[in-house]
Amino acid sequence: MEDSITMDLESGLSLPIMEHFYTIQGEGRYTGTAAYFIRIGGCDVGCHWCDVKESWNPSIHPVSSVDKIAETAASQSKTIILTGGEPLMWNLEPLTSRLKNLGCRIHIETSGAYPLSGHIDWICLSPKKTALPLESVYAKANELKVIVYNNHDFIFAEEQASKVNDNAILYLQPEWSNRNKVTPKIIDYVMKNPKWHVSLQTHKYLNIP
Ligand code: SF4
Repeated sequence: MEDSITMDLESGLSLPIMEHFYTIQGEGRYTGTAAYFIRIGGCDVGCHWCDVKESWNPSIHPVSSVDKIAETAASQSKTIILTGGEPLMWNLEPLTSRLKNLGCRIHIETSGAYPLSGHIDWICLSPKKTALPLESVYAKANELKVIVYNNHDFIFAEEQASKVNDNAILYLQPEWSNRNKVTPKIIDYVMKNPKWHVSLQTHKYLNIP
């Protein structure tokens, strides 16, 4: 990779963009809301059930200038969702500054394993056992979304809920490939522990991106 591209990636002036698209947010607090997704390549968290493993290697995704991606996104929607991969592996200050200048509200979906950067209006923290969140992300998360793959994930969810700030909305979401098995358990758990809410990947049921 050319030195200038490497420098732009390090400074956050360019980012490896896997895909970007306008759709409906399918999960969590903003389920059903139209939003523009920017999926940034790169993740080293290594969830075995990850449904976007193609995102893990940043070098296979085209490097785009944040000016260009911000203009494209803001022309479609004023609600932007930064996702990945793990978007906090990158310096998000340049991208989020440009989006803010274009009047956007910015959400992020993160494992919390890297420090927050940039101007973020809504933080969806989805912690993973393989790389736990930083304290600074627990403190600022607006929603905590725990993916449930097996019974131990309910124990993990309670551990994570004890670490997140008191205002965070708590969600349990079935891991998609195991949804038939775990969704009834989540329903039962939420009825017994109503501080939690059910989150479903409604975009997958709707067959939209
Ligand atoms: Fe996949 Fe997200 Fe886990 Fe990374 S943090 S491996 S992108 S599910």
